[in-house]
Amino acid sequence: MNIILIGPPGAGKGTQAKRMIERLGVPQISTGDMFRAAVKEGTPMGLKAKACMDKGELVPDDVVIGVVNERLQKPDCKPGFILDGFPRTLDQAKALDELLDKMRSKLDHVVVIEVPDNNLVGRLTGRRTCRGCGYMHHITFDPPKKEGICDKCGSELYQRDDDQEVTIRERLATYHSQTSPLIEYYSNKGIVRKIDGTKNMQEVQDAVKASIGA
Ligand code: AMP
Repeated sequence: MNIILIGPPGAGKGTQAKRMIERLGVPQISTGDMFRAAVKEGTPMGLKAKACMDKGELVPDDVVIGVVNERLQKPDCKPGFILDGFPRTLDQAKALDELLDKMRSKLDHVVVIEVPDNNLVGRLTGRRTCRGCGYMHHITFDPPKKEGICDKCGSELYQRDDDQEVTIRERLATYHSQTSPLIEYYSNKGIVRKIDGTKNMQEVQDAVKASIGA
């Protein structure tokens, strides 16, 4: 099954994707995670991506499309995939259509997780990510038992550079101007499933499951 998750930063795309991969037996492909890994490794692509990420801007389409193209060729994508954070522009969406055509594949569902902006700033500024397993705690809604330490694996928690308020506002503006038009693009194909992302994690998960019939 091939799924795209769309939603503003902090809507819970990554959390929901992680909860779906085991059940569906398909990988989560997060372009944000791939760029953060490249930044950590200090590759030339990582350096280019970091400059955009720190400003809350998008990484150029050609870079992102190249990365996703390579990733979708890997054997673990044969049974399908969950794309989390890609596509984010109309040009990326069109490039994905072409890639899937070449692979003789198609999208099954585009799950849109809707959360109003005023809910998102608090969600993102309080987010603390684990350096070890990637689990996301929240200092108010899901605080770790020991400050700064992940409950799941005991590694250090950190705050993403782009989870500072000024950058968050930029990321939200970028989402509204460049990514939200994708909802209409995919609505025209009849594959959009809209979910109320303001509910708790379990309720959102149940709604996602129901919307894709899995
Ligand atoms: P995320 O972890 O999905 O919130 O992504 C973090 C940052 O990585 C974004 O703010 C962008 O700078 C960059 N990024 C991730 N995915 C894409 C994409 N599909 N197109 C352009 N930039 C992206």
